[in-house]
Amino acid sequence: MSDSLLKSAENTILFTTKRPPLVMEKGRGMYLWDTSGKKYLDFIGGWAVNCLGHCPEVISDTLCRQSQLLVNASPAFYNPPMLEFAQYLTAHSCFDRVFFGSSGAEANESAIKLARKYGRLKKNGAFEIIATDRSFHGRTLATMAATGKPQWAGLFEPKPKGFVHVPFNRLDAIEAAITPNTCAVILEPIQGEGGVYVADSAYVQGLRKLCDREGILLIFDEIQTGIGRAGTLFAYEQYGIEPDIMTLGKGIGGGFPLSAMLAKEALNLFEPGDQGGTYTAQPLAMAVGLAVVRTVVDSKLWDHVVQMGGIIQSKLAALQHRFPIHSIRGKGLLLAFDLTGVSATDLAARCLEAGLIINASGPQTIRLIPPYILQESHVDEMIRILESAFS
Ligand SMILES: *Cc1c(COP(=O)(O)O)cnc(C)c1O
Repeated sequence: MSDSLLKSAENTILFTTKRPPLVMEKGRGMYLWDTSGKKYLDFIGGWAVNCLGHCPEVISDTLCRQSQLLVNASPAFYNPPMLEFAQYLTAHSCFDRVFFGSSGAEANESAIKLARKYGRLKKNGAFEIIATDRSFHGRTLATMAATGKPQWAGLFEPKPKGFVHVPFNRLDAIEAAITPNTCAVILEPIQGEGGVYVADSAYVQGLRKLCDREGILLIFDEIQTGIGRAGTLFAYEQYGIEPDIMTLGKGIGGGFPLSAMLAKEALNLFEPGDQGGTYTAQPLAMAVGLAVVRTVVDSKLWDHVVQMGGIIQSKLAALQHRFPIHSIRGKGLLLAFDLTGVSATDLAARCLEAGLIINASGPQTIRLIPPYILQESHVDEMIRILESAFS
């Protein structure tokens, strides 16, 4: 059935990316099943999204309950889960105000707009935002302009102006890039799509001081690192600093399309018409997001994330004397390693064939971003398949 469905329908999907000829039909916990019944151990987890695994009861129960109460009432009105969720997020972070969206890019667009609003109102019209090389901030035009992927530099011109890129982990480079036009710096505390590179403590702390001195906003893009993935509820906690703005996505909805931009009270600067969206604070998304984040917080899931991340790193390290693996890195369950003489794409394809989903985030880089619910037995299963894929 699905083979013929794929054949007949494939050409109706606008081409944006190469996909393997598989149709994923079902998920449970750490596993996915395709329509042929083949089972896959999932170390991508919906691209760092399904933090509680596939189809957790808390999501299906919440969706069921909320969908019988209120699916949508328009962004013109408050709804109970919206208020509860905003209160919950601000109580568990250093921020005071929340704007909800549906995708990470939308949260970052909001952050960019808010930073420009701040520049206009408080900093003589400053509009420039400093970002880092190899960063990833999304696929809208402005977030593509903020992104530091060299392959995107010439795409879809003219892109919005006002973005400057400097090397990552180099405070002097940011300092040198600041002009009277600078309103903000945007940073992923761990560059995710770029290959899992962790920002140094001294860099982030120095950056906070520099931004304070210059009256520039510090925006943390925690779309990938937030909600426990890096080993604390938010990665900024590990640096002993507070950003002015933080964006969340991916894990915040556990698979439901949801994102958020959080900001300090002093940045409550939008006027009617500046920002909004049909699906902002959509009740289903609010109820699910609240339930997901509550689950993570109530069980302090990040402790398990740290423990499992450590186990993965040491089991990968034990493979190093037999296989061309090096530079194992990352924090919590945002991990990567590099390969020599082996294509990451080929390795990921061989693993997929053998029932393991991993991500080739670069030609020589494998990234592992599994759900937080994984157990040591899943790590062992992953290592076994990896070993056989190398052999
Ligand atoms: C995934 C990601 C985004 C974009 O999120 P979308 O939901 O795909 O729009 C932005 N920033 C970071 C750090 C990401 O990992």
